[in-house]
Amino acid sequence: MTNPQNMTLFGGTFNPPHWGHIKPLKQAMQALDILKVGLLPCNIPPHKKALKISNQHRLAMLEIVCKLEPSLYVEHMELEKSEMSFTVNTLQKLKKNNQQTPYFVMGTDSFQSLETWHRWQEILQLCNIIVLNRNNQPLKRLPEVTQYISCGPHHAVSLTDKQALSTKSGIVVSCHFPSVAVSSTLIREKIEKKDYRQLETGEILPLEVFRYIKQHQLYEQNQS
Ligand code: ATP
Repeated sequence: MTNPQNMTLFGGTFNPPHWGHIKPLKQAMQALDILKVGLLPCNIPPHKKALKISNQHRLAMLEIVCKLEPSLYVEHMELEKSEMSFTVNTLQKLKKNNQQTPYFVMGTDSFQSLETWHRWQEILQLCNIIVLNRNNQPLKRLPEVTQYISCGPHHAVSLTDKQALSTKSGIVVSCHFPSVAVSSTLIREKIEKKDYRQLETGEILPLEVFRYIKQHQLYEQNQS
């Protein structure tokens, strides 16, 4: 079993959080014996234009998700900073307080653009990356990655690989669990168009998150 003290963070904008974030994450946690994951909302996302929603609302929606899924918690460390969120800085901070190599979770699309991230080679030296399947694309092969490991419904992670994950860095775990075809953009667009069909069924995001969005009139008219 991997050491439960390996900290696992899942970075994102979470504007809003949806099942595409949570469902494949829960499956990866089970496959890798990860007991807790910190959802890490970024402050000012370096890759995206400024958000038109307050951090308080994003936090409140993540808190709702964590109530539904007690194995998740909100990690505030990027929100507390006034500057841009750079993963490499966050991981460096973690290193000061932790002995174990952390895991950093991202979707396939984020991994495919890893080479554009600030000091990305250092990211690979500071953590192991768990990649959640998003579009069934094979992952980019980067020479800087020390090892690629696959896991999925028909492919368990071996004990040897689990041991490597708890002692080494630069490993990429490619998870092949079924993805949920949703993005935060799609949800914002649906709300703007008042197309609530997939939202009020709880199909693509938790119903409780949708109720919060409605209650606070988020993403209505040109707010996305
Ligand atoms: P937006 O549509 O606003 O760009 P998003 O839906 O991609 O947002 P983010 O919060 O930006 O959500 O994503 C955080 C992380 O979660 C990213 O690494 C992204 O690749 C991953 N992710 C988001 N949606 C999915 C999904 N449906 N399946 C797998 N991974 C996902």
